[in-house]
Amino acid sequence: MKIIAGNWKMNGSSDALKNMQDALRDVDTQNTVILCVPFTMLTPDGGRAAIGAQDVSAHDHGAFTGEVSAQMLRSAGAKYVIVGHSERRMYHGETNDIVRTKAESAIANDIIPIICVGETMDEKQAGKTMSVIESGVRESIPSDPRGKIIVAYEPRWAIGAGLTPTAAEIATAHELIAKTLESMGLGGTPVLYGASVKGNNAAEIMSIPNVDGVLVGGASLKPDDFIPIITAVK
Ligand code: PEP
Repeated sequence: MKIIAGNWKMNGSSDALKNMQDALRDVDTQNTVILCVPFTMLTPDGGRAAIGAQDVSAHDHGAFTGEVSAQMLRSAGAKYVIVGHSERRMYHGETNDIVRTKAESAIANDIIPIICVGETMDEKQAGKTMSVIESGVRESIPSDPRGKIIVAYEPRWAIGAGLTPTAAEIATAHELIAKTLESMGLGGTPVLYGASVKGNNAAEIMSIPNVDGVLVGGASLKPDDFIPIITAVK
């Protein structure tokens, strides 16, 4: 069984979500399906998919205009939240320390954080891919998660660019993440691959060792693109 998580980013509408939920209703799969939608579309009624958010405040409450706490997400129906997505790190300066604090807040409110790590093109070209991934895992995950977490490996240079690493590169990265998690006492934590996953590469990517599912951006917006990914593996 795999985990297929969609990240709608700042796209969609409540009507589009309803349309996706209708399309997913009869999909024949044992896989876990998650839809991470904008705050305004959160709902306790996810239908066939579990609903997730795309970010959470590091704070519990108070004078933080525009922010949304984990407790608020939970009461709006979120069961998952993406933390440390590349676009949050790039446009909002989120560091591993901030990401870890957000993950802690999610866990404390019974929300499963999907903790993203991955290297930029500059880091890749400087030969730092492995060290960035390892420090991302060690520093972004709470020291004692005491709850379920999901890790997502997203090579930042490949997101939304139609680029994908080779199968060997994905395998090497996921092996490192699995070993790092094991050394932290977190063996068995699901690890997703994300960046430019489509219907025509999903099966191959999910057959790579230590890949427990995928995090999908652009191809999660339309049922015709998303369903072939969900059904790529039974
Ligand atoms: C993402 O935003 O997490 C992502 C993987 O995007 P895309 O699939 O569009 O590359």
